[in-house]
Amino acid sequence: MCGIVGAVAQRDVVDILVEGLRRLEYRGYDSAGVAVVTESGELTRLRRLGKVKELADAVAEKPVTGGTGIAHTRWATHGEPSERNAHPHVSSNITVVHNGIIENHSPLREALKAKGYVFTSDTDTEVIAHLVEEELKTAGSLLAAVQKAVKQLHGAYGTVLLDKTDSSRVVVARSGSPLVIGLGIGENFIASDQLALLPVTRRFIFLEEGDVAEITRHSVAVFDKDGNAVEREVHESNVSYDAGDKGQYRHFMLKEIYEQPHAINNTLEGRLSSDSVLDETFGNGAAELFKQVKHVQIVACGTSYHSGMVARYWLESLGGISCNVEIASEFRYRKSFVQPNSLLVSISQSGETADTLAALRLAKEAGYLGSLTICNVAGSSLVRESDLAFMTRAGAEIGVASTKAFTTQLVGLAMLTMAIGKYNGLTGAQQRELTDALKSLPAKLEQTLTLAPQIEALAEEFADKHHALFLGRGDQYPIAMEGALKLKEISYIHAEAYAAGELKHGPLALIDADMPIIVVAPNNDLLEKLKSNVEEVRARGGILYVFADADAKFQSDATMRVINVPHVADILAPIVYTLPLQLLSYYVAIIKGTDVDQPRNLAKSVTVE
Ligand code: GLU
Repeated sequence: MCGIVGAVAQRDVVDILVEGLRRLEYRGYDSAGVAVVTESGELTRLRRLGKVKELADAVAEKPVTGGTGIAHTRWATHGEPSERNAHPHVSSNITVVHNGIIENHSPLREALKAKGYVFTSDTDTEVIAHLVEEELKTAGSLLAAVQKAVKQLHGAYGTVLLDKTDSSRVVVARSGSPLVIGLGIGENFIASDQLALLPVTRRFIFLEEGDVAEITRHSVAVFDKDGNAVEREVHESNVSYDAGDKGQYRHFMLKEIYEQPHAINNTLEGRLSSDSVLDETFGNGAAELFKQVKHVQIVACGTSYHSGMVARYWLESLGGISCNVEIASEFRYRKSFVQPNSLLVSISQSGETADTLAALRLAKEAGYLGSLTICNVAGSSLVRESDLAFMTRAGAEIGVASTKAFTTQLVGLAMLTMAIGKYNGLTGAQQRELTDALKSLPAKLEQTLTLAPQIEALAEEFADKHHALFLGRGDQYPIAMEGALKLKEISYIHAEAYAAGELKHGPLALIDADMPIIVVAPNNDLLEKLKSNVEEVRARGGILYVFADADAKFQSDATMRVINVPHVADILAPIVYTLPLQLLSYYVAIIKGTDVDQPRNLAKSVTVE
C-alpha cells in the first residue's frame, strides 16, 4: 500500500533511502522507518511515527551508516500507527519491510509463538520476519527461506528482506503489491515505485506476480512463482526526473490542476485523425473487439468511479450501447449478470487499485468479450492483465486527491465513446464534431483556469462551514459528486452531491444559510430543469454558488454568486466544469490550513481492499 525503498551498494545508502521515501510521500502514510547494515554485520534501525522529515531528523541526530538497507513508509492496516508498529520489523537476524496485507497472519502468528518467537508489534508484517527466520534454519540461503515462506502467505505483499549476517544481498518478493528493481553500476536498488529511484538510476526491471528475486551489488536473479529462474526485460524509464518536484507551485495538487491543459494535449496526441478517433489508440485488435461490443460494464473506485459514471451518459447517448457502472469493491463480491457481447472497462490512476484489479480478474472467468483498462501507469497490473489498455498519459500524479488523472480519464472515455459509437450509429458528422471539440479542449481549460482569482475569493465564504451540497443534472451529476469528494478529501468539510431533481425527495430539509450549495450549470438541454431546482433552494433561504455558462443567464444577487465558465460543446462540459470545483476545494483547504497533498487517513494508490 505504501512505500518501499531498498539498496545494496558499497557507498552509504541512508540518504538514498530517505530521499526515496520522500519521493513516495505522496502516497499517504502514517510512519516511516529505515534499517541499514554494515559489512561487519552491524544493523541499525530507526523508526518514527509521522512524517519522513521526523525520520530524516532522527538520522541526522544519530548518524547511521550502511551499504545495504531497506526503508518503508507505512499505511497501517493491522495495528495502530505507532513507532513500534512501523517497519522495518526484525526477527533476530532477519529484517523486513512489507506493503500489503497478510490475511492468514493470525494462525501463522499462533504457530510461530508456539515455536517460541516473541512478537513486538501488532502488525501482520512481523509474521514474515519470524517465518523467514524459522525457514532459514533448514533452507540453505535467505533466497530459499523466502521462497518457502511466501508459499505459506495468503494475501498481498511486496516485501524486502535482509539478513544481517550477510550484508551482500537483499531478497524481495512480489504478490499483489508492485515492486521495481533499479539497476545501477556496482549497486542495485528496489522500490515500490520507480519515482523513488530516479535520482540513482533510469534502468528498471518490473517484477511480475509471484516473482522472488535476489539482489546483490553485481547481480539480479529473478525466479517466477514456480521457482524457475526467469529473465525479466530491462526498461529504460522516460519519466521526467523532476516529476517529483513542485516547481513554482505551493502544492503538487495546484501544479497538477494547472498541468491539465498540457496533460490532455498528451492524452490526445497521435490519437485523433481529422475527423475521428484512431482505433489503435486502444491497442492491437481494438477495432475487431469494438465491432462486436453491445454492452459496457465499467468498474472503478473513488474518483475513477465518477469518470465511469460520466462515461455511462456518453456511451448510452452517443455510443449507442448500454452501460453499467459499479464500484469495484461491490462488483467483486456479488454475482452479476453478464450481458451478451459485454466489454469490461476498468478505470484506475495507478493500475494497482486492489478492488478494481480483483474485479478484472473475476471478470476474466465470467464470459466477457474482453477487457480494457483506462490507466495512468504503464506496466501496472491492470495494464498488463487487460486485453486492451488506454494510457491516459497524465504524467506522475503526486497529490493524493486526484485531478489531472480524472480529467485525462474523461478524455479517454470520450474517445472510447467515439470508437465504439462509430459501429453503433454515431454518424461521420457527429464524429467530426466530437473530434473538433476534443481538439479545442486544452485551450478551453486554459481559459477556465483564469477563473482562479475569483474562486480563491469565493473560498473565504466556505472556510467556516461544516457542510456543503453539490448539485448537477445529467452528466454533470457525477461532476457534482467529484466536486463533493474533492472538498471532503482535502478540506475535511462534509459534502454531499445530489442529482438536482432529487432535492425535493429529502435534501431540501437541510437547506439553511449555513449550508452552501454549489451548482454546475452548463448551457445544455437540462438547463431549464436545473433553474427550477435552483429556485426551490432560493425559496428556502439557501445560499448558492453557481458555475454557469454565460449564456445560461444566471444573475448574481444577495443569495446567489455566479461564476461564468467558458461556453463549451456538451461533451466537454463535464471536463471543463471539473476545474473550478478542484480550485474551490484547493483554496478552501488552503484557508483551513490542511495538508493538501497528503490529506489525513488517505493513501494515493489503494493496493489493499
Ligand atoms: N499491513 C502492514 C501493516 O499494517 C503493511 C501496511 C502497508 O502497506 O504500509 O503494517
